[in-house]
Amino acid sequence: MRRGVRIAIENAYVVTVAGQEYDGGHILVEDDRIAAVGPGPAPGDGADERIDAAGCLATPGLVNTHHHLYQWASQGLAEDSTLFEWLVTLYRPWSKMDAEVVHGAAAAGLGWLAKSGCTTSTDHHYIFPRGRGDLFAAEVEAAAELHVRFHPCRGSMDRGRSQGGLPPDEVVEDLDTILAETEAAIDRYHDPSSGSMLRVAVAPCSPFSVSKELLVQSAELARRRGVRLHTHLSETLDEEEYCRDRFGMTPVEYMETLGWLGPDVWYAHAVHLHDPDIRTMAGTGTGMAHCPSSNARLGAGIARVADALAAGVPVGLGVDGAASAEMVPLAGEIRQAMYMQRARYGPAALTARQALEMATLGGARCLGRQDEIGTLEPGKLADIALWRVDGFHAALDDPVVALAYGQTPPLARLLVGGRTVVADDTLVTVSQDEVARRGADAHRRLMRLAEDVL
Ligand SMILES: [Zn+2]
Repeated sequence: MRRGVRIAIENAYVVTVAGQEYDGGHILVEDDRIAAVGPGPAPGDGADERIDAAGCLATPGLVNTHHHLYQWASQGLAEDSTLFEWLVTLYRPWSKMDAEVVHGAAAAGLGWLAKSGCTTSTDHHYIFPRGRGDLFAAEVEAAAELHVRFHPCRGSMDRGRSQGGLPPDEVVEDLDTILAETEAAIDRYHDPSSGSMLRVAVAPCSPFSVSKELLVQSAELARRRGVRLHTHLSETLDEEEYCRDRFGMTPVEYMETLGWLGPDVWYAHAVHLHDPDIRTMAGTGTGMAHCPSSNARLGAGIARVADALAAGVPVGLGVDGAASAEMVPLAGEIRQAMYMQRARYGPAALTARQALEMATLGGARCLGRQDEIGTLEPGKLADIALWRVDGFHAALDDPVVALAYGQTPPLARLLVGGRTVVADDTLVTVSQDEVARRGADAHRRLMRLAEDVL
């Protein structure tokens, strides 16, 4: 990037998520970092660009802690199914996907995320049908084209139906292949440096689709290489029953026996937690990716987010894959999370500011990047969302309420490392129309490839 570039954002309502709010404040960006944040105009002159953000709310860019980008190509199927029924239906078309499907789906999925304020996203890709191209490379390329900070998780499944697992045998890999391919992905793509645009995590799919051996060896590999660990856990009562029948433990207790707890681990969902599970996760710093729309769509349940936050568990937000959360915008999950907690636990269960913190700093903690992203503070990366809270939203006095409660306001600007990715609610690093078309093409291609098994 060009060195010494300064962008001054002024007249915004700035919420740092680090304890300060400035009405009419500024953020000064230098290269890919935040140089200053505070009240009034930006210090100094000579900025290369001045953004008059009057009528805008400035927040840290949102962090998406769980996704399956390939699922953009398989939306709207098994509409009224439980998780296990839905999986059994969808494993069939997923077994036919190729690199072209993944590239188009990832481009559309990441573009959609950026348009709802997301500056950092994970992805959990766990199906690698043989002979269908380099699926992991396809999504890495899509993220680089869009310029979104990316944490792809090399997923895996090694326990097919013949071994007592849920997935059909043709979509699972063997243990040695998984470990070798996962380490190869780390060698090829993982960038541990400060300001990194890409970090790889190790991510066996779930207790009901992988062997104990794979979980143990994945943890060993991740710790040897200094990368993070991710998996689905405690998503449904069916899963809890499976773990109790098979292992005589809750899913969290099972993971504890395998070394799968710690500040380098975050679980997707963690809906059905018991009090000791919450204490265990809080005590070990194990994170939770809360995906409220997906949990609601599949009837999985309402996660104990308020209890987890009160106990000190790092909790981030996630959209989950588009096959179980069709067209869900990440910013919309702020409201969904808040309302689901309130529906069960009362109106004080989760505030708008707590939900915004989950979407930003909470997500950064899940990814181990709380020193670099998740708040607006000098020295942190310039990942910034400017939301238009004038227009219809101006009838609300509190801009955070305007963002959290109603329909998500339009994005005036989205910066990732100081580079504009969205301007005036439209993608600018790639052609928005082209990305949308590629997403639709990926869906049609997958349906064609899978027509014999649907
Ligand atoms: Zn998931």
